[in-house]
Amino acid sequence: GVKAYQFMLRTKNPCGKVPNQLYLAMDDLADEFGIGTLRLTTRQTFQLHGIVKKNLKTVMSAIIRNMGSTLGACGDLNRNVLAPAAPYTKKEYVFAQETADNIAQLLTPQSGAYYDLWVDGEKIMSAEPPEVVKARNDNSHETNFPGSPEPIYGAQFLPRKFKIAVTVPTDNSVDILTNDVGVVVVSDDNGEPQGFNIYVGGGMGRTHRVQATFPRLGEPLGYVPKEDILYAIKAIVVTQRENGRRDDRRYSRMKYLISEWGIDKFRTVAEQYYGKKFEPFRELPEWEFKSHLGWHEQGDGALFCGIHIDNGRIREKVKKTLRQIIEKYNLNVRITPNQNLILCDIHQSWRQNIATALAEVGLLEPKDVDPLNVTAMACPALPLCPLATTEAERGIPDILKRVRAVFDKVGLNYDESVVIRVTGCPNGCARPYMAELGLVGDGPNSYQIWLGGTPNQTTLAKTFMDKVKVQNLEKVFEPLFYNWKNERQEGESFGSFTSRIGFDKLQELVKKWEDP
Ligand code: SF4
Repeated sequence: GVKAYQFMLRTKNPCGKVPNQLYLAMDDLADEFGIGTLRLTTRQTFQLHGIVKKNLKTVMSAIIRNMGSTLGACGDLNRNVLAPAAPYTKKEYVFAQETADNIAQLLTPQSGAYYDLWVDGEKIMSAEPPEVVKARNDNSHETNFPGSPEPIYGAQFLPRKFKIAVTVPTDNSVDILTNDVGVVVVSDDNGEPQGFNIYVGGGMGRTHRVQATFPRLGEPLGYVPKEDILYAIKAIVVTQRENGRRDDRRYSRMKYLISEWGIDKFRTVAEQYYGKKFEPFRELPEWEFKSHLGWHEQGDGALFCGIHIDNGRIREKVKKTLRQIIEKYNLNVRITPNQNLILCDIHQSWRQNIATALAEVGLLEPKDVDPLNVTAMACPALPLCPLATTEAERGIPDILKRVRAVFDKVGLNYDESVVIRVTGCPNGCARPYMAELGLVGDGPNSYQIWLGGTPNQTTLAKTFMDKVKVQNLEKVFEPLFYNWKNERQEGESFGSFTSRIGFDKLQELVKKWEDP
């Protein structure tokens, strides 16, 4: 018979912003055309799995009519722009989100041909700020293809997908260093935004057994005054467009260009397209992981509530209840880069009813969620992703329970935690190379183990062991956690501990544990 191909569809929501109407539409579409669940992603978007081809057009039109967009969610162009999802009304948060929106618009494909395919040329109406249009069309430093429907991308687009995140100082909820470009708002002493620090060259994806592929952290490029940010971003994108490798997709992300050139050469070339020098990077405070879970004041009298969703999968009773709340109170929502959901604009007087309804379907206050689950992430993997070699989303609940059991066995307290991330292949969608304990599928029921990331996602993990079968994970976990418990320095995270002790020593300990 004819194979009924199934499609996966991703939306584009800068800053994870989901208007009320779009949430309700996605909730309906998941039931009508998908597999009945909603999946939140690590780039603050929805994924709908299991759509059959004949329904694709209907679904995409519905999303666009409801103010979402799927444009630029896939392909060799800029992907969804991340920003902290918390709907704080504080100036710097609002400014970070506005900047993310503007960057997203700057780098949205312009040509009708790109979306005719999907929605019969139904034009997506969005009012672009004049400064975005001006920056896109500006060709004073020969950045553009004048006359092309795609002044920045041209006919060839970019060598590969491109990822940008914007945030404020200390808030590393966006995993800033894993992006091609990381943008950080810099404010004066009165909290008035003045400009941006820019990091370049981060990226997670790699290929097993190809040593020349690797995850990489972004590094400082420099500072730009706020009015120049779109020109600076454009200059970086054009540098990659002109110089990124197009002969081999494995090496076509911008991180490989920057590795090859070094940051100084990259800066010099980007400055030619920018038409100015980048100023020195401004000093900023330490990064922190912020979950934005639980109840918070937005700053305008309303509240927001961050809800932990295991692996971003909203299903069954939880899905029904969330929909009821969101519909009844007409709430806007946000998706966090940790695959969680934030309910926004909650009136103080609604809090009790909402909290009760959430608790009834087991959506706990953050203090009642196992700390291991709060920071854990897994990608969809089997059976939904064609690249997966083993389980991630379906496997992680059990893996976390087993880690908790090992914690109990070696005497680690309930409030102790380790950042654990699991993916079904080395592409690294759940950013496992930033985890303190990363499990990366490297065969059926088997994982490569990565150690050495930090709780605030500022250090890259390294490969510790290959091909550990899922049933044998305790043989590795027990000696590692036992030694962390007993040998760590005051307040030392598991990730810092494993880096300090060194992998040779730790491998010996694992071996001895097996045959003493
Ligand atoms: Fe698929 Fe690999 Fe991404 Fe997981 S990490 S979703 S298996 S591509």
